[in-house]
Amino acid sequence: MRKIVNFNAGPGMLPESVLEKAKAEMLDWHQTGMSIMELGHRGADFKQVAEQSEADLRDLMNIPKNYHVLFLTGGASAQFAMVPMNLMSERKQADYVVTGVWSKKAIEEAARFGDVEMAAHLIYRNQLVALPEQADWNLRPDSDFVHYTPNETIDGVEFNWVPDTGDVPLVADMSSMILSRPIDVKQYGLIYAGAQKNMGQAGITIVIIRDDLVRKKPVFLTPTLYQYHTHVTNHSFYNTPPTYSWYITGLMLEWMKENGGVSGLYEINKRKAKKLYEVIDQSQGYYQCKVHPSCRSLMNVVFGLADDAMDDVFIAEAAKVGLVNLKGHRVVGGIRASIYNAMPESGVDALVAFMKVFQEKHPVKS
Ligand SMILES: *Cc1c(COP(=O)(O)O)cnc(C)c1O
Repeated sequence: MRKIVNFNAGPGMLPESVLEKAKAEMLDWHQTGMSIMELGHRGADFKQVAEQSEADLRDLMNIPKNYHVLFLTGGASAQFAMVPMNLMSERKQADYVVTGVWSKKAIEEAARFGDVEMAAHLIYRNQLVALPEQADWNLRPDSDFVHYTPNETIDGVEFNWVPDTGDVPLVADMSSMILSRPIDVKQYGLIYAGAQKNMGQAGITIVIIRDDLVRKKPVFLTPTLYQYHTHVTNHSFYNTPPTYSWYITGLMLEWMKENGGVSGLYEINKRKAKKLYEVIDQSQGYYQCKVHPSCRSLMNVVFGLADDAMDDVFIAEAAKVGLVNLKGHRVVGGIRASIYNAMPESGVDALVAFMKVFQEKHPVKS
């Protein structure tokens, strides 16, 4: 067993069994005498990996037949541009819900392409950060799409409801929550997610797009590689895909199927998050979470000590006992525990125990 518990926000930890399998297969994949990295991407062997991973993802997420599944490069950041470049009509109009650092990046990129408006932003409720109710959103009925970020990885804010945008396609950046809870794909026009947080390794990005949104001719002079149509017609094999990342993601999908699927993982994820928020809420203000309980993230628990000068002491002492990468994102500071699908409940238990001991060891000076 590995001794380190890795709370990194991305790339996130991978299950030990996935890493063991990759290790065992490293030099000789399925009796080919070659590493998977060395196999031609158009050969029958790699095709098997590609097809199985798509089938597993479709199965795990219950993806309807009229949606394409693409395995692309460029991370979620490339999607910030690909979405407007491909989905905008001649109107070039889109609405963005801005609830944290990532959706802000998404809207900034989209604004380069057309008439992009912020439909809603974070609000405060009892001095805590909260999500705006949809009744207060300013959605334009003739927009080409509405974009939102169901889980804000840096801010620790998560929607536990799905916006209703009527006939306007809903686009979601699910990078840090894909496969962590059941969703109904039919409610979305397009879903994208970098794999390195909840479903695999950096280098590959999943796009799930409804067939009618795949434009044969984008209104912009969109490079061939950045057109969804290219990847749909070539089944993500237009150019050389990141084969090793794809393979690791495939192993991760297999692991998820063996570990209860999305609904099974969701139960564990809820339990893990609850344990952490409980120790924060029961610390009599020693630990503080600035996110309203109605929208606290299941995946990224963002908190800090009331005395923020102690955050770094906490992070350093935690690292000494093997609880690593707890530092909050440089933009928001504080502490962040990312507890994606691969984080075992025992890892969360270790952090909870550490938090209690730390509080006793460093009482607030009165
Ligand atoms: C990590 C993250 C991104 C950026 O992903 P890259 O793969 O680094 O481009 C975008 N959106 C969200 C919600 C993220 O968590």
